[in-house]
Amino acid sequence: MRTLDRDVVIIGAGPSGLTAAYELRKAGKTVAVLEARDRVGGRTWSEDMDGATIEIGGQWISPDQTGLYSLIEELGIETFERYKQGSSIYMSEDGTRTVYDGADFPVGEATVAEMNKLVAEMDRLTAQVDPDAPWNHPRAAELDMVSFHHWLRTLSDDEVACNNVGLFIAGGMLTKPAHTFSALQALLMSSSAGSFSNLVDEDFILDRRIVGTMQGVSIAVAKRLGDDVFLNNPVLKLDWSDSGVTAHGTDITVNAAKVIIAVPPNLYSRISYNPPLPRRQHVTHQHQSMGLVIKVHAVYETPFWREEGLSGTCFGPSAIVQELYDNTYHGETTGTLVGFISDLQADAMFELPEAERKDVILKGIAEYLGPKALEAKVFYLSDFGSEEWTRGAYATSYDLGGLFRFGPEQNKNVGPIYFSSSDLAGEGYQHVDGAVRMGRRTAARIVAAVDG
Ligand code: FAD
Repeated sequence: MRTLDRDVVIIGAGPSGLTAAYELRKAGKTVAVLEARDRVGGRTWSEDMDGATIEIGGQWISPDQTGLYSLIEELGIETFERYKQGSSIYMSEDGTRTVYDGADFPVGEATVAEMNKLVAEMDRLTAQVDPDAPWNHPRAAELDMVSFHHWLRTLSDDEVACNNVGLFIAGGMLTKPAHTFSALQALLMSSSAGSFSNLVDEDFILDRRIVGTMQGVSIAVAKRLGDDVFLNNPVLKLDWSDSGVTAHGTDITVNAAKVIIAVPPNLYSRISYNPPLPRRQHVTHQHQSMGLVIKVHAVYETPFWREEGLSGTCFGPSAIVQELYDNTYHGETTGTLVGFISDLQADAMFELPEAERKDVILKGIAEYLGPKALEAKVFYLSDFGSEEWTRGAYATSYDLGGLFRFGPEQNKNVGPIYFSSSDLAGEGYQHVDGAVRMGRRTAARIVAAVDG
């Protein structure tokens, strides 16, 4: 067991913890980062699978994500555009497949009008919501008491319109059914991206990817931190007092003036705090839970859909694979598709034996893109729900009523203990951009507290 003395100890080498450590180092502070896994990057993670680069976790960057953009510029990392040329496919609830162009789903004029009405109302309210403090909106209490599912139906009696608009936030972002989170939580998600229209525009929100992968950003920051990043060191015990902390890893103990806990909020209670955290934090942390989504990759000899004039973008609000995109990595000649299977559908898939699950999912993809989709040479399911140091995907959000009641607490430090996560961010909430912004903000708060 080695014991180190540092100004700040950071628990978690995901993008938030690493950015915080990097900023603190630049401000002249000494740091140590203790990471549970045998790798850095947390919910960003990539692997080569039979010659194809697969991003198992976070990967896309949108134009408004200037926190992440400024970091990659500093690191000399480039981006590339997602393949977007060609027509999209929409699968209606009755299984009708329609090829379409443009932004509107091919759902009939009346439903398009209802969807536009719902989007306009979301945009109007989103413009009034401060992503850093959604609980300050004059109608925050009321909007946090009603589920997003129910709230949409108070605005429209068009079930298809409600399901389609609901999907953008429920299956598409929070990865929880729309009846489990509030309208205020949905507004936080849209205000974090600037507007609801931004969020529903896949050409905006899924605009570009990172050359060298999103995990490569964390690897590049960790490289700059050198020997101060310690892998295979989960911190399960933290002693603290007003004068400092001691973080206990597996083979490293760090004494420091401050600690940044940069793990996802659902894992805060894995750490045993001595003395215990105040009541308010104990209760708050129990109301932040992970969503669940399967990110499925299928790699083919060629991107066959492109030859048919298709972009690979497919939507089916009630299909097993609700969203599908061309996910071929920069410079590769094979074709890669990525699909998403959210919340209740993900539960159903994990109930199936492995071979049957693969069969059902590939058939789901083939319903959009034809029988060639059955001939995947690589088939891979991201299963962050089984990962001990994440336990779900993509990120955490509050239960009904939780955001208004507990949100104001989430970014307060407890003596020397600070929290930093994409899931506590305003802008970039639940995204790598939010993780970077929170890392910078937390580092700046500590520097201000220490240096005055
Ligand atoms: P994390 O990345 O979760 O890092 C936390 C770190 O803490 C981990 O390395 C973990 O191992 C470590 N840790 C946990 N407990 C302990 C402990 N007790 N001791 C020590 N270490 C510990 N974002 C985007 O911007 N674009 C996307 O396209 C996108 N897609 C996604 C797809 C998937 C499947 C998933 C899962 C996420 C996606 N995200 C996306 C979200 C993005 O990956 C996260 O917002 C981001 O990684 C959060 O960074 P973080 O540092 O806050 O937390």
